[in-house]
Amino acid sequence: MKCNEILELMPDLAAGLSAATPELQNHLQTCKGCEAKLDEFRQTMALLDEWQAPEPSPYFDTRLQARLREEAAKPALGWLHWIRRPALAGAFALMLVLGVSILQRGGDPGSRNKVATVAATPGTAVGDLQALDKNDDLYSNFDVLDDLSVQQDVNANP
Ligand SMILES: [Zn+2]
Repeated sequence: MKCNEILELMPDLAAGLSAATPELQNHLQTCKGCEAKLDEFRQTMALLDEWQAPEPSPYFDTRLQARLREEAAKPALGWLHWIRRPALAGAFALMLVLGVSILQRGGDPGSRNKVATVAATPGTAVGDLQALDKNDDLYSNFDVLDDLSVQQDVNANP
């Protein structure tokens, strides 16, 4: 029997779930390493036997039940409840602005300009979005410039 085979049997052996076969006992008598390992396993198991899970506070169940009743008694607030959370409200407002600007882009050019003139402080999310929207043509020309330089490189080095 090899050491790593013994090692696999050790947890059960140390916990007393399986008995040591004569072959195993032979190995343990001749192999100091495995003998020491089994001792460590036995000590660990003994320690685990002593260990007791701490009891929860006697008031835990009572308080939990009271809390559950409290929550169940609260009226359902629906989506208004979520709006009260600032981060979600911010995200919702941003989605609303995006939605409106997408809708407006589909309309006639006059209404598109109207959206751009709505006052927005530069540096805010809304201001940035409007700047991006307003300079849409300019930014798309950057791509054209990139394409041109690539084409020129290709022409220079065929
Ligand atoms: Zn061994």
